[in-house]
Amino acid sequence: MNDPDRRASARTLAVVGGGVIGLTCALAAADAGHRVRVYDAGHHGRAAWVAAGMLGSLGEGHPGEDALLELSTASARRWPDLVARLGDPAVMAATDSLFVAMSSADAHHLGGLAEFVWARQPRAHNDLRAVDHAEIRRLEPAVTSRVHSGYLATGEGAVDNRRLLDRLQHAVRHAGAEIVERRVADLADLPEDEVLVAAGLGSRALVSEVALHAAKGEVLRLRRTNWSVPPPTRVVRARLHGRAVYLVPRADGIVVGATQYEPYSVTSTAPEVGGVLDLLADATELMPGLRTYELAEAGAGLRPCSPDGLPVIRRIDERVVVATGHGRNGILLAPYTADRVMALLDGHEEPMLDVGMTNEGVRR
Ligand SMILES: Cc1cc2nc3c(=O)[nH]c(=O)nc-3n(C[C@H](O)[C@H](O)[C@H](O)COP(=O)(O)OP(=O)(O)OC[C@H]3O[C@@H](n4cnc5c(N)ncnc54)[C@H](O)[C@@H]3O)c2cc1C
Repeated sequence: MNDPDRRASARTLAVVGGGVIGLTCALAAADAGHRVRVYDAGHHGRAAWVAAGMLGSLGEGHPGEDALLELSTASARRWPDLVARLGDPAVMAATDSLFVAMSSADAHHLGGLAEFVWARQPRAHNDLRAVDHAEIRRLEPAVTSRVHSGYLATGEGAVDNRRLLDRLQHAVRHAGAEIVERRVADLADLPEDEVLVAAGLGSRALVSEVALHAAKGEVLRLRRTNWSVPPPTRVVRARLHGRAVYLVPRADGIVVGATQYEPYSVTSTAPEVGGVLDLLADATELMPGLRTYELAEAGAGLRPCSPDGLPVIRRIDERVVVATGHGRNGILLAPYTADRVMALLDGHEEPMLDVGMTNEGVRR
């Protein structure tokens, strides 16, 4: 993994961007013997810092996004190895997700999504199953008694995104790579043999071939008090008033997410009043006991989105590879991206999905 002979002979790699994508790729490259330096402009504006950390593959399966479901499922399977590599099981904040419908119309909608996932991922029959009102109440007593029915996605969990970033930084350094705080303005200024641009939205300014737009989203962090009911043990996801809301457990409370405004041309990452109000209203309706939690943080971030919703992971020229455009799923897709980037650095251009379907037009 960290063989000095191999490292001495290896080519040097600059990774531009120290978010979840840049760090996961940097770790894979350092483990493979590359001499890696990560250039990062800092924590401000990093989407992975704001994010909720859901590893939502089945729950992110929407008709028309077949290729994304394939990539998501492929990446979800790689997560246990990444957590083992980081050596910290507490990076995982939850291991299952519960999708709840508040009405029969919602239940019908959720049922359609489940049918889509089952059709595309036959193996998902083992991992995604219908649950009725009584089972939801038994599984998660803190969820409102007004729930109608739902689906339990076993194995579809969440990570503590901030702990993950911390552990990734630690592992990258421990693997022999360097992390320097610097905003890169021009790739030509970098002395390394090869460059990976993984700067999220910042990739636009460095690689003109890549089209990206921002999708702004607000997230709340709620802290449990001594007199609060415990948070759910699973990720709980619902639609209320036509809006998606989810509760993601943390050791000290719950992350509530997330709004989405797309396309978004403003670069401000200040949370907006309307977004915070909607999240609070929906979250407390879904779990009434949240009213006694403390509002520890209201944050907002900009998801780096590609025009077709798929990540852009490809070679730009002989020296430069890019990995960006992960939209709402960048944390989930990090291990898959790292494998794909390593294949590109090793000279393999062919697609490498490890799931059974062809995905013409998928930029992998
Ligand atoms: C509200 C919200 C909720 C989300 N929830 C989830 C979720 O539950 N699950 C999930 O999988 N994903 C989620 N996401 C999406 C996820 O956060 C992103 O897809 C992911 O963070 C993208 O990773 P990245 O490394 O490409 O970009 P970022 O995390 O944005 O990191 C980019 C890094 O590059 C650096 N940088 C930029 N320009 C330069 C430069 N010129 N030179 C040097 N460094 C530079 C920045 O400082 C930053 O550190 C969410 C996002 C938001 C906003």
